[in-house]
Amino acid sequence: MYPGLQPDTPMRQLGFISQREVQFLESSGIRTVLQLLSRLPRRYEDRRKSAPLHMLQNDEMVCVRVHLYHCGWRYSYKRYFEAVAGELDDLHGTRLYLRWFNMPYVSKLLATGMNLSIYGKVRLYGGKLTLSNPDFEIIDDEDAGRRLVEAAMGGTLMPQVTEQGGAASVHTGRIVPIYKNVNGIAARNYRSIVWHVLQQLATDLPVPGYDVAPAYPYWQAMREVHFPAELEQQKKARLRFALNECFEQQFRVAWRRMRLQNNPGQVTASCPAYMEELLQALPFTLTRAQLRCIEEIRADMAAPRQMNRLLQGDVGSGKTLVALCAMLLAVGSGKVAAMLAPTQILAEQHYRNFCRLLAHTDVKVSLRTADHSDDTGLVLDAGEQDSTPRIIVGTHALLYKKHRPHNLGLAVIDEQHKFGVEQREQFIASGENPDVLVMTATPIPRTLTLTLYGDLEVSIIDEMPANRGSITTVLRNPANMKRIVAFMTEQMDAGRQIYIVSPLVEESETRKQSSATGELTRWKEVFPQRRVGLLHGRMAADEKEAVMKDFSCGGLDILVATTVVEVGVDVPNANIMLINDADTFGLSQLHQLRGRIGRGEHKSYCILLSKVKAGEAGRNKLDVLCRTLNGFEIAEQDFLLRGPGDVLGTAQSGLGTIEFTEWLTDARLIHRANREAKAILQDDPALNRPEHACLRELVQYDEGRGLTS
Ligand code: ADP
Ligand code: MG
Repeated sequence: MYPGLQPDTPMRQLGFISQREVQFLESSGIRTVLQLLSRLPRRYEDRRKSAPLHMLQNDEMVCVRVHLYHCGWRYSYKRYFEAVAGELDDLHGTRLYLRWFNMPYVSKLLATGMNLSIYGKVRLYGGKLTLSNPDFEIIDDEDAGRRLVEAAMGGTLMPQVTEQGGAASVHTGRIVPIYKNVNGIAARNYRSIVWHVLQQLATDLPVPGYDVAPAYPYWQAMREVHFPAELEQQKKARLRFALNECFEQQFRVAWRRMRLQNNPGQVTASCPAYMEELLQALPFTLTRAQLRCIEEIRADMAAPRQMNRLLQGDVGSGKTLVALCAMLLAVGSGKVAAMLAPTQILAEQHYRNFCRLLAHTDVKVSLRTADHSDDTGLVLDAGEQDSTPRIIVGTHALLYKKHRPHNLGLAVIDEQHKFGVEQREQFIASGENPDVLVMTATPIPRTLTLTLYGDLEVSIIDEMPANRGSITTVLRNPANMKRIVAFMTEQMDAGRQIYIVSPLVEESETRKQSSATGELTRWKEVFPQRRVGLLHGRMAADEKEAVMKDFSCGGLDILVATTVVEVGVDVPNANIMLINDADTFGLSQLHQLRGRIGRGEHKSYCILLSKVKAGEAGRNKLDVLCRTLNGFEIAEQDFLLRGPGDVLGTAQSGLGTIEFTEWLTDARLIHRANREAKAILQDDPALNRPEHACLRELVQYDEGRGLTS
């Protein structure tokens, strides 16, 4: 017997696992006891109850205790080992035929006269109740354990002998855990290994990491999540682990927030002259939500610490104008303001847009991208004077130190979800501590905002401009193009413009999906008298710019494109979006694409083309899209359909190793974890107390990875 296993005991040291199995476990990333136990069951099978044998139906799952009347090899079309069994205490005398194919070791384990607990699916063959390869355990047999050990060549099987001397039920007669398969290890053996490890855990083990829920002992929960007596028990246990895990997330975020809040920043005096000039010149008034956000940002910029703020709002809610107002506030107080966009197209669009909006002012707008810089005097050495009020728009190029504008007072990052946390960090941590405003249109479930952006203050634009025409979204089979073409003609005659989006740039032999270049040819044939343009990521930057400019000033009727138009592109006169092979796109991506229309007063139409039928994969998201325009609802659906990793991308998520995705959107859990984290930092901001040592380690680890400034 071992003195007791510790969480960090290597699997190699467990006497009851063969070296081969150890290797298989290790190649699946399971090296220690804790790693083994942290892999929770995927699901459970209730193998407790079953009907009496004589009432069993074909294909029913059964778990019964039986006596073996006879055992031996059989030959029919195949060789198999068979045991004829009857239920213990069965008055009806019903016989069960247990058959094991390709499992010769079973013959060494079983003998006439034994009592077993078995589990498997019943089938009627020629009037006989049979079970193929049932799971089984030997009960009430003193010798069983010894025989098992003897038979377990290479450690294939282990006895499950309890202290009472009888066999414990691990695989039958209980709620049985089902784990995700580990290559090379039979499900039954894996389960036995977990069982043994739990049996042999030392008592009074410490809890790994910081424990938020000590009322429910951690290691008890560990036992109950693997081998629950009732299904409710495993739920409770999972919730308990999830809470610890959420706490860890929230703590790291709260720590970052605390550190950021202590960053000294610049004081931006409130000089709203430029902003007011802009607002007066606009043909519309800002929404209440936009005004509120501007006010929140203004107050934050005026404060002596660095602003770290998220501006969140659904596509088309008017974030750009809010950001522009913030930039004008910075410019008004004599600073430079910069906006970082994820794509060249978007940077150029902002640039043109700002030039137009600010044409009547003396604010100078510059563009700085990898292959475009209209202003060489942009980067000034320290000490050099430049009194021109200046706004700079750019792409990643702006991130590099040597390109970073001097006298930077405000940095805006548009479409933050297209960048990683680290890139945001580069701006935040730059020498002059500029105020930072990040914008994102990808709505995420609100609880996740706490996790992903919990270190930032948040302003939300929760209201759409009033002048918007509605968007109707429909799903159509591409076979019915005739009516769609007629409709497109009608709308173009009325002066509207159209987007046509395809998943591929060029035709591909391997992927049978529509391509932008293919569509270009096709639509030029359909509408020979119309002007059709092409836009995709592989075009040269100046080509892209020319096409985009052409489309936005009405020089093109139709823009055939790939998803390069997904983010930010703003042409209010375009009111139809045709999406080819719509089922191949992600839900949030489709929502973003659709956000390109419905930006003006015209009624807009999003036409999803797809052949998927009801009930088929990929259909669900299309139905969601037709049903709602609400970005938050769509985000939640997207999470349910794909999980957070896929939705957010790993670079963005920073979510680490969340095992408990199902809890990720559980608001109460996250809020509780968030409160606990804040309370600890309030009490012990330097984490000096001994019970906070593990938390200090955690944040030090983060800082080592450059995640905290
Ligand atoms: P997003 O939030 O998706 O970035 P934009 O900032 O691109 O949205 O704004 C979408 C469109 O709405 C732009 O053409 C913008 O000029 C316009 N817009 C912004 N605010 C208002 C408003 N209050 N009323 C009417 N139109 C507005
Ligand atoms: Mg935008």
